[in-house]
Amino acid sequence: MKKRITVLGSTGSIGTQALQVAQRLGCRITVLTAHSDVKTIESQIRQFNPALAVLYDEQAAQDLKTRVRDLPVKVLSGLEGMCEAAAADTDLVLNSIVGFAGLKPTMAAIQAGHDIALANKETLVAGGSVVMREVARCGVRLLPIDSEHSAIFQCLQGAPPARAVKRLILTASGGPFFGKNSVELENVTPEDALRHPNWSMGAKITIDSATMMNKGLELIEARWLFDVDPENIDIIIHRESVIHSLVEYDDNSMIAQLGVPDMQIPMQYAITWPARVQSNAKSLDLAKIKNLSFYQPDCETFICIDACRRAIERGGLAPAAVNAANEVAVELFLNRKIGFLDIGRLVCKALDYRLPDEADSLEQILQTDKAVREQTIAAAREIMR
Ligand code: NDP
Ligand code: MG
Repeated sequence: MKKRITVLGSTGSIGTQALQVAQRLGCRITVLTAHSDVKTIESQIRQFNPALAVLYDEQAAQDLKTRVRDLPVKVLSGLEGMCEAAAADTDLVLNSIVGFAGLKPTMAAIQAGHDIALANKETLVAGGSVVMREVARCGVRLLPIDSEHSAIFQCLQGAPPARAVKRLILTASGGPFFGKNSVELENVTPEDALRHPNWSMGAKITIDSATMMNKGLELIEARWLFDVDPENIDIIIHRESVIHSLVEYDDNSMIAQLGVPDMQIPMQYAITWPARVQSNAKSLDLAKIKNLSFYQPDCETFICIDACRRAIERGGLAPAAVNAANEVAVELFLNRKIGFLDIGRLVCKALDYRLPDEADSLEQILQTDKAVREQTIAAAREIMR
């Protein structure tokens, strides 16, 4: 297989692993992008020889240009450069940018007619209906990389044409603060929150896992990817991260996908689908694991879950609003400006902001994101006082 792959967000946790997987599968890397990590992208350019590389940051892109002037790679910058990268000729665009910044490049890739392997869940959370409408209009495929969504996608392979899906069940590890209450969480630090028990990931998603906002975002992501009503999507805590999610069919039969917690499996499946080929992930040793445990999530302590559920049930721009508030709040928490529990408070507050009812254009989503960021910063100032 000699697929050509564009990797957006190539310097991150998913991006660097995706490059290894793609290389092992014999793919050709045609385009690389990142925000400002010049050193990492330079070494990736030297290793993979792409035709185009983009750094969002202008200064960093200038620096990169100088560093790679001995190579035939074109270097661009800014949002325009990111969108040009997403639209450039290729067979698959793997989007592993973190956050709302991934939305416009995703749209550019769809409009260029490219299939997309999507790790950047915020694209679907903020842009859901608009993104899915473009996917349908342009006739492209959206292949999930998020492990839960890859699991559901795998469980749906071979489903009857009418699908007969009763509900989706997303599993959640529970993160580092499973079992803790609000009093115990009031003073936890970024270092505590960055210690995830089962997965090694970028900082933003690790904090999202600690607040369980990640599962709320995934609920919204699942609603759009699989066209299932949010009321038919459940969340269950599963500490071992062995079952990556399940589908319950109308006959009450449940199909689950299991595997070691290793992102190589979902990444590879998004690249090779519908084929399955050998991977570097370890085989699951069930006898060694012995027991699998399950618990109801504690939605009273981890209030972000219900905030996301309310947002997607309300629809329109509410999911874009909770996403924007969360991105601002996570950054403030990582910079020690607000406490851990303030993240959830600011996310819930975003549901009170006045928003237009319908999310029917990209422009409206961008405006909402901007307005909610400003309001969240203002609300955070009150807390910081
Ligand atoms: P990282 O923070 O490790 O990497 C983010 C990547 O995006 C980097 O390449 C970064 O560049 C780039 N980037 C950041 N901001 C911008 C911007 N404004 N414009 C353009 N590029 C930008 O994140 P992860 O790899 O952990 O996560 C990526 C996405 O995948 C997230 O949406 C996350 O929720 C999702 N995901 C991640 C999983 C994981 O295991 N890590 C699992 C499932 C989903 P630079 O390095 O230069 O800053
Ligand atoms: Mg996930």
